[in-house]
Amino acid sequence: MLIVMEHNATPEQVDAVEAAVEALGFRAEPIPGSLRTAIGVLGNQGYVDDTAIRELPGVREVIHVSKPYKLVSRDFHPEATVVEVRGIAIGEGYPPVIMAGPCSIESEAQMLASARLVKAAGAHILRGGAFKPRTGPHSFQGLGVEGLKYLRQAGDAVDMPVVTEVMRIEQLEPVCRYADILQIGARNMQNFDLLKEVGKLDHPVLLKRGMSATIEEFLAAAEYIVAEGNRRVILCERGIRTFERATRNTLDLSVVPLIQQFSHLPIIVDPSHATGKRPLVPVMAKAALVAGANGLMIEVHPDPDKALCDGAQSLNEEGFARLMQEMGGLIKYLGY
Ligand code: PEP
Ligand code: MN
Repeated sequence: MLIVMEHNATPEQVDAVEAAVEALGFRAEPIPGSLRTAIGVLGNQGYVDDTAIRELPGVREVIHVSKPYKLVSRDFHPEATVVEVRGIAIGEGYPPVIMAGPCSIESEAQMLASARLVKAAGAHILRGGAFKPRTGPHSFQGLGVEGLKYLRQAGDAVDMPVVTEVMRIEQLEPVCRYADILQIGARNMQNFDLLKEVGKLDHPVLLKRGMSATIEEFLAAAEYIVAEGNRRVILCERGIRTFERATRNTLDLSVVPLIQQFSHLPIIVDPSHATGKRPLVPVMAKAALVAGANGLMIEVHPDPDKALCDGAQSLNEEGFARLMQEMGGLIKYLGY
């Protein structure tokens, strides 16, 4: 439920409404706006009888929100959230932020070479997986903490913040020590215990859409993180599972403008996992920017044919540099 106050409501009237909400056993969350204050009501399960609130002085309107997410919704927070990571702003009004790097961290040398080439091409944030959620147990599972160290070293060498996936709560301690952004992968989007734990931290969280998650489920997952206090959430569309087998997943680009309508959180697109095919990555990356994405996550490898993971969807140095150049013109055209 959302309580909208009159534009000339006094602080005392706002306090009285908050007290009335709390007397009903719920939590009141004031949402300051430029014209009028709104008060979000949290903790209710179903419909709340609003008679005790509707008639209070200064109340203009009571809106019943039936969605499973509130804190991440535009209704509750009309102003866009911009997530800042070491001086790089991700969100509405800022140029798209490019995260790039290999699927997996394979060695110190591979990570450093990757960092140098994505930095030289103009990427902003370095990616690399140390804990890998592989479909089969016989595939390379990642270097773990050793990999995190290589990622950090490489990021420091080229002065780039780093993002890496965390799969389990026990991995949070080392991942927070070495990484600037915590990635929650598609397979863990509904690992609610993990979502709650990252919600208690200060690190920004890159939350990927589950491969069968609806937009509502995606935003409800983000709500778990924000509800614990961590508002620095970046959403990532990475393709969903459909009947189509010609691509690894189906890139749902319409989710970008829809999420921007429903939520104040930034959303980026990962065209690498969405397509699974190197030749499709550049064109879908550009399509994502046209759709309004606040950034991209792109897999890049110094020698994709030898990659231990996701080589078929990884760009090489030349391919990534060309894409970055093409996107430079597009980003200018889009008005940044
Ligand atoms: C990844 O980014 O390497 C990854 C495993 O992505 P997703 O969770 O989207 O499959
Ligand atoms: Mn990958």
